[in-house]
Parts: sequence; C-alpha cells; structure tokens
Amino acid sequence: MTTTIINARIFDGQHVLDSTTVTIEGDRIVDIGGPAPAHAEVVDARGATLLPGLIDAHVHTSVPALAQALRFGVTTELEMQGAMTGDAQRRASENSDIADVRSSGFALTPPGGHPSELFPAGERPGGPPRGDGPAPVMPFVTTPEEAVTWIPRLVEAGSDYIKVMVDDGTVEGHPGLPYLDQPTLDAAVIEAHRLGRIVVAHALTVDATASAVQAGVDGLTHVFMDRPHTPEIIAALADAKAFVVPCIVLDASMMGLTGEAFAEDVRVSSRLDPAWLAALRSSIARYPAGRLDDVLATVAALHRAGVDLLVGSDASVPVPYLGGVAHGASVHHELQLLVRAGLTPVEALRAATSVPARRFGLDDRGRIALGLRADLLLVDGDPTTDISDTLALRTVWRAGVARSL
Ligand SMILES: [Zn+2]
Repeated sequence: MTTTIINARIFDGQHVLDSTTVTIEGDRIVDIGGPAPAHAEVVDARGATLLPGLIDAHVHTSVPALAQALRFGVTTELEMQGAMTGDAQRRASENSDIADVRSSGFALTPPGGHPSELFPAGERPGGPPRGDGPAPVMPFVTTPEEAVTWIPRLVEAGSDYIKVMVDDGTVEGHPGLPYLDQPTLDAAVIEAHRLGRIVVAHALTVDATASAVQAGVDGLTHVFMDRPHTPEIIAALADAKAFVVPCIVLDASMMGLTGEAFAEDVRVSSRLDPAWLAALRSSIARYPAGRLDDVLATVAALHRAGVDLLVGSDASVPVPYLGGVAHGASVHHELQLLVRAGLTPVEALRAATSVPARRFGLDDRGRIALGLRADLLLVDGDPTTDISDTLALRTVWRAGVARSL
C-alpha cells in the first residue's frame, strides 16, 4: 500500500524542509518532495506538521504501556531496566498496536542497591516470569570480576545496551545505599564495549555523575539534581561526549511537583485511563529539598556546552508513588520543559527524534529520509515554533501502519 502525505510542513528530525510531500510504501519512506503516485492514497496535511515518530529514551515498560505510548505518537521506547528483551521484544516489534522497544534488560547494582529501596519490604527488583523462562533477576555485583561475568550473560539474554546504577540514595531519602565502586564501573564499561554495547548510567548526584563519566559511560539516564552544576561537571560531560537524558519531568516529580497542571490539558487527560491519570496527577516527592530551577539551569548549561540531550520520561507503572509521569504523555511534557530550559522548539524536537536514534544506533528511524522506517507523526499546527502543538495529535504511522489519534 502506498500513501502520500501532501501539503505538510515537514520536520525531518533535524530541520524543517522546503518539501511538503512524503510518500510511504509498506513500512518505508520511499519519496520526499515528489508528486503522489497515481495509485497512492493521499492524506492532505494542510495546516499540519509531519515529524518522525517520537522516541522516549527512558522508560520501564510493558505491552499496555507501549500501547499508551503509541497513542501519544511515541513510536519507540528505550527501556532502561526491565524485561523487554529477547522474545518479549520480538513479539512487541511485530505488534502494530504498540510502540517498538529496545531494552537494557536489568541493570548492574550491588545487593540492596538502587532500585531495591523503591520496593516494599520483602519484594526485590526483578522481572515477572516470562512464560518462556524463569523470571529475570537483577545482576547484583560488587566486584569488577562479577561485572565482567554478568555482562556477557546480559548480552546473551538480549540486552541492547548495558545499564549501571551509581546511586548512594541521597535524593531518594535513603542515604547510605550501596552502589557500584569505581573499579567495578570501569570494568563494566570495558567489558560492555568489548562486546559492542554502549553503557548508560543512572546517576542523580554530581559525584555519581563524575564517577560514571570517569568510567567512560556513553550516556546518563538522568541529570543530577542534588546541587547546582559546576563548570567542571559540565566540561567533564562535554569532553567525554556523553549524552544526557535529563528526565526533567522525573526530577520535578522527585521534588514533589505533580503532573496536575499538565494533566489539565484535555489532549493529555482524554488519552489516559483513570489509573494513569491519577498517577500523572501525583508525584514521587522523595527530594523536596531539590530546586527545579537548578535542574533547568543545568540542562541549559549542558546544551550550551554541546552535550547531546535526549527526551526521556522515566515512566514505569501507574502507581501514585512513582507518579508525576505517564507513558507517552510525559514525552510531550518533557519537550515543553526542554523549551522552558532554553532549547528552541526545533532543538527540543531533535532530542526526541534524530538524537536518540543516532546515540542508540537506531539507523532506521528518528529521521524522515529515504529508505527509513515509516515511523511518522502528524500533528496540527506547528510544533517547530510552538512546542505544545505536539499534543495536537492527528495520525501516527508505526512502520507504515496508520492510526488516527
Ligand atoms: Zn528509570
């Protein structure tokens, strides 16, 4: 089947194009700027903007969560700890009703380390049974040797990239948590790179971020929130060419700022079920001492220093104590917060499209270009000048399969 979208403003993942026409055939983009073929179904996009499908670079997900993401125009979620590897990922990739997904599998952390403190007493982090095998368990490691032993097992089980936790619990209200020490981090990065996997680090403090950067990680799944940035930490991240997924929405929730005001937007609330709406209207509130203005200033400084910024939400499950965020919806909230931090709307949109695709080696998506996957989003208005127009959702194409939003 061939579809031609005509009269669209086109943001290709990097720039606004002069062309106004895109043709897709099957699951691919086959023409940009040319006329509609005689047999094509024509979609008149006058007054609307066509963008690459959005990418959320920090989630913990499931089939229902991936379905919700797609309803918000998110065509790919990148899981940063979870069970969406192997067969679960393959099944997801074949399901046109849900976003596509990549996953780190489970992250390296010491016994009792983050995220153990988030779980009720008696429960420990790990995955649900998968039907095709035992429940995945957290790779608990405390030494370089254990890290080097675990990483090939994670790769074997389908981890698309490796995640490490560097968290002493300061901002979760659990100071004194055990966390990976420098030699273990160093060894983990070397082993992951040897096996061709990039490494991402969870770090919420300046010190933990510095340790991860010293080890040579490729990216940070949060921006630190314990204190204002210093020139040294900004320079360290820039010099290392590390990317940052700031998850400003998550930091705000950690500080007790709810998603209540964002949920007032009927374009958000109308797409969420009661459990997710209640979660979005809640907040995590474990670090009331934090200052959102500091985080916004850090994001601005990283941007000025040329650090790649990626949109991420840290959405997981719809429970109030992990609230303030919701799959799909919070990608749009994060875009608005990046603009509030000082990015232009076009720069923010790059952070949800071409930049995550480039940093995670997803060469088939994140841009509107010949031969790429037809992961596309059509919204009314012009989000390249007014970022909130990303919520004027009209149609998403997921590998060429259209869905009205
Ligand atoms: Zn997370």
